[in-house]
Amino acid sequence: MAVIGIMSAMHEELAAVLAAMPDEQRVRVAERDFWVGHWHGHDVVAVLSRIGKVAAATTATVLLERFKVDALVFTGAAGGLAPHAQVGDVVVATGLVQHDMDASLLFPRYEVPLYGRARFDTDPALSEALAAAASQVLSDPAQHLGAQAIADFHLLSPRVHQGLIVSGDRFVSTTAESQALQRSLPDALAVEMEGAAVAQVCLDYGVPFAAVRTISDRADDDAHTDFNRFIREVASRYSLAILSQWLMHR
Ligand code: SAH
Repeated sequence: MAVIGIMSAMHEELAAVLAAMPDEQRVRVAERDFWVGHWHGHDVVAVLSRIGKVAAATTATVLLERFKVDALVFTGAAGGLAPHAQVGDVVVATGLVQHDMDASLLFPRYEVPLYGRARFDTDPALSEALAAAASQVLSDPAQHLGAQAIADFHLLSPRVHQGLIVSGDRFVSTTAESQALQRSLPDALAVEMEGAAVAQVCLDYGVPFAAVRTISDRADDDAHTDFNRFIREVASRYSLAILSQWLMHR
């Protein structure tokens, strides 16, 4: 049976996933805890991704080499870049770019040297299935979130977007940087710190990859007042519900 790798960016997300797995066993590799078990009858290995491109790439490599996952799904939060990617929306990546890759004396800006490409595409079928699950979950946020969280974070009609996510080793939290990213990568819906690196590793191994991110902030000067509360009360609940919905119908 196919083994599914789940990489969660946040502790709260992973905790929610583990609570849904009845029989997980911990296997420690490369200073990371991999949780091997089942969810809705599927073989699953769940792990905390860790933050940043290199850490996430190491985690992904272990999932592929050691645990032989046949598909890899990343869930986490991201900063919204496109004006319509609002806090509480979900972005399912169709492709990812490392926005901090620049070997431009030798290669075009953003191109990863020796890969001949800047953009790493996700698996269309996997991404479509996750987007369908996300649409289902977001059609009724009250089923997954508390009334107070919905009111405080203004989550009355969250939307699912599909498109480009950009990744780099920076938490983007100034309007100037966010606008610079939007100017140079106008298709980018959201920015985070891991996805494009994991997509690159999955391309190397020929394993289907998908990334689902809940917009937690607008990557601008309006510092998110309560990032941790948003992760706990919104993003981790969406991740759990989306993954559960997807695996139930897979
Ligand atoms: N307090 C958190 C740390 C969050 S770091 C913790 O203890 O886990 C930010 C995480 O959210 C990274 O995984 C990154 O991918 C994502 N992220 C959310 N908003 C972002 C932004 N504006 N810029 C870059 N990454 C962002």
